[in-house]
Amino acid sequence: MRIIFATSNEDKLVEIREILKDTDAEVVSLREAGITADIVEDGTTFRENAVIKARAVCEMTGEIALADDSGLEVDYLGKEPGIYSARYMGRDTSYHVKNGRILELLDGVPEEKRTARFVCAVAAAFPGGRVETVQETMEGIIGWEEQGENGFGYDPIFYLPEYGCTSAQLSMEEKNKISHRGKALREIRKYFL
Ligand code: IMP
Repeated sequence: MRIIFATSNEDKLVEIREILKDTDAEVVSLREAGITADIVEDGTTFRENAVIKARAVCEMTGEIALADDSGLEVDYLGKEPGIYSARYMGRDTSYHVKNGRILELLDGVPEEKRTARFVCAVAAAFPGGRVETVQETMEGIIGWEEQGENGFGYDPIFYLPEYGCTSAQLSMEEKNKISHRGKALREIRKYFL
């Protein structure tokens, strides 16, 4: 069984291959499947965006397609940046700047109001029209400064009280065990067994 993962992110591919390694699924990237089309993510939720991407790739290829959509919800900011996490302050703006902006907006806000979560929706689209989705989160709070060099994006300001560090201070392995994306990818696995 071949599955096309609608991503150009190598790290995500490695992760899903690891999670599905004991099934008979072979996971290939968009590039490996020869797809160059740009898919417009115009959904209003993580789930909708994941479905849009998975469905588009499935329809283009006639093969099973997987897609994910993720982002950071900050409760104090009305759940922003949410589905606009990658586009927040402009796609080309560095995460040092984006993180600085969020820290500034939460300046003086007490710990109990700094709650936030990473969300990841994953969709699997099958030829014939069937679509399955899962969604998972990793809960934490927005810290007071950037800390840690691992991970990417908003990880340096995402503090995990239970672990006493940010998600940028976890190894990739540790993060995958508890992350929104790790959990969602393991959850979608049931549809490929
Ligand atoms: P996408 O789902 O690959 O489009 O990613 C959405 C955006 O959400 C990323 O560009 C990051 O800004 C943010 N994001 C999603 N997951 C994480 C994470 O695990 N750490 C840090 N930022 C994340």
